[in-house]
Amino acid sequence: MLEKYEAVIGLEVHAQLLTETKLFCSCSTKFGAPPNTNVCPVCLGHPGALPVLNKKAVEYAVLMGLAVNCRINKRSVFARKNYFYPDLPKGYQISQFDEPLCEFGFVEIDSGKEKRKIRIKRIHIEEDAGKLIHDRGGDSLVDLNRSGTPLIEIVSEPDIRTPQEASEYLKTLRKIVTYLEICDGNMEEGSLRCDANISVRLKGSTDLGTRTEIKNMNSFRNVEKALQFEIERQVEILEEGGKVEQETLLWDADNYEARSMRGKEESHDYRYFPEPDLLPLQITDEWITEIKNKMPELPNAKKERFQKDYSLPEYDAEILTSEKPLADYFEKAAEVTTDFKAVSNWVMSEVLKVCNRDKISIEEFPVPPENLGKLVGLISKGTISGKIAKDVFEEMLSTRQTPEEIVKAKNLAQISDSSAIEKAVEKIIADFPAQVEQFKNGKEKVLGFLVGQVMRETKGKANPQMVNKILIEKLRQ
Ligand code: ADP
Ligand code: MG
Ligand code: ZN
Repeated sequence: MLEKYEAVIGLEVHAQLLTETKLFCSCSTKFGAPPNTNVCPVCLGHPGALPVLNKKAVEYAVLMGLAVNCRINKRSVFARKNYFYPDLPKGYQISQFDEPLCEFGFVEIDSGKEKRKIRIKRIHIEEDAGKLIHDRGGDSLVDLNRSGTPLIEIVSEPDIRTPQEASEYLKTLRKIVTYLEICDGNMEEGSLRCDANISVRLKGSTDLGTRTEIKNMNSFRNVEKALQFEIERQVEILEEGGKVEQETLLWDADNYEARSMRGKEESHDYRYFPEPDLLPLQITDEWITEIKNKMPELPNAKKERFQKDYSLPEYDAEILTSEKPLADYFEKAAEVTTDFKAVSNWVMSEVLKVCNRDKISIEEFPVPPENLGKLVGLISKGTISGKIAKDVFEEMLSTRQTPEEIVKAKNLAQISDSSAIEKAVEKIIADFPAQVEQFKNGKEKVLGFLVGQVMRETKGKANPQMVNKILIEKLRQ
């Protein structure tokens, strides 16, 4: 981007709530059911069918509001957002408009360089539409299983300044909803979706420029790419003396470009009006307190606690708390040993390496955390060397045995018995007279070779510090 411009970005993020049933009926929200089986008169939009609000969805939305420092409005109102869409047979979506459930919050994002506050304008509850399927031999099909699934929409103020910050903000929200266990955060499957509003202006200006809205970005990378593309396009228009048109663009991830989808609708185009089939939503202080008490530890708090309680560097704490199940895994492993940094190293390197290689989540990782903790304990106690530990770990992956069982069965315990080590040292001194001579003539580098030979003689099980010490003693005799 040209130096004299800055971007102004606001995100609208939709998160699908993990309730068992839909927002206004008792149909299941289960993903992957045969098409049009999780439906009823309410979510099919039959005339006269009446919506009944799902309490769990409200609870989840309030939880999110509290987690991102919002004011929870004790009265909020559902509204009809009218439009024609073939995947929403009612012809309107039940949403919230001028009286949303949550307002005036913020999250802190860490762009690596600095911490920034991004204000949240509002969070409201709404229902999802069904799904259109276009790629079936020329016909278009509709699956209404998703119709009526509960969503929250989290709308930011236009406080985001760069594509990287936008993706950081989205990552922060994803972490929070998954920690709260109110959304699975899966962007590819569309459980977490993001539309971006974007304008550019001259640096130093406080006016907002004309914005466009980009839809359909289903990964963090796409969000960054799409915003970068759009910033450059808008700057180019302004540089040529033109005007940015307010419109809605669709991101085409295959061709790396945003294409015009439609002129941007204004809110009055939707003819919002209060939903006559639902009373205003009233929430008591007692219920809000009850929900507050269910608040789990949030990502930032957990990260700080990991740095403090386990004396971990910020880098480790950041990685270990990047996902709650990973943090849980670390904490369970750290219960059985006091060498926390070593546990952290094992989790960050060996454990995550296997998860990436085998494309499994930490929840599917075959070694129970207690066993990893025990393995680290065996190294700290000197029972096995770090090198042998790698072999034991491999064995743990395939056999599900505890490290103690493997060490015992394979006779892998480190030899710390000096007479056994002395015997091996003597054998090597006898076998390599030339190298011994070199050492005695001052070529100390050859010591490494001799240590290596002793380790080989003991199949890697000798305590390396002891081998070093005894070898030097014998050579100096
Ligand atoms: P709408 O009702 O059209 O959806 P909102 O006022 O709710 O508009 O804003 C939608 C999103 O667009 C918010 O995230 C907001 O921060 C952002 N936004 C509003 N104006 C601008 C602008 N000029 N440039 C960039 N983002 C903007
Ligand atoms: Mg909007
Ligand atoms: Zn239904």
